[in-house]
Amino acid sequence: MNMHRGSCLCGNVRYELRGELGEFGYCHCKSCRKASGSSHAANAPIDRTDFLLVSGGDSLREFESSPGKLRAFCSRCGSPIYAYLAASPEVLRIRLGSLDTEFTKQPRAHTFVADKAAWEPIKDDIPQFPEWAPKTVLIQRGSRQA
Ligand SMILES: [Zn+2]
Ligand SMILES: [Zn+2]
Repeated sequence: MNMHRGSCLCGNVRYELRGELGEFGYCHCKSCRKASGSSHAANAPIDRTDFLLVSGGDSLREFESSPGKLRAFCSRCGSPIYAYLAASPEVLRIRLGSLDTEFTKQPRAHTFVADKAAWEPIKDDIPQFPEWAPKTVLIQRGSRQA
């Protein structure tokens, strides 16, 4: 089993993962674009019991972006670290850009492509879906995927 480590941009928030990250996609929805400051988000799930905050609890803050959706970030540098639903707090969705260790799983889908930015071309062979991907393609633990 790989053990992953991650951190925020300023380095105050540091974490370790004691389990495997689950499958993920690239989400192009407006919320993910705002939360990431980029064309899409890449977030993979892990059990909260496998997430160890090593440092930075003093700068880790949570923002409730819609009722019951919490996004944790470093209040010094602004880096997003993870998100979770109040209804399923036992699963965290880790922002893959915060990883410091090599992670080789590949995305299974482009989701919410109907909301993507006009300035983002998608030129790969990963399946695209206008909203959520069907669970036969991608199971997004800890999200609102029905
Ligand atoms: Zn930071
Ligand atoms: Zn999204």
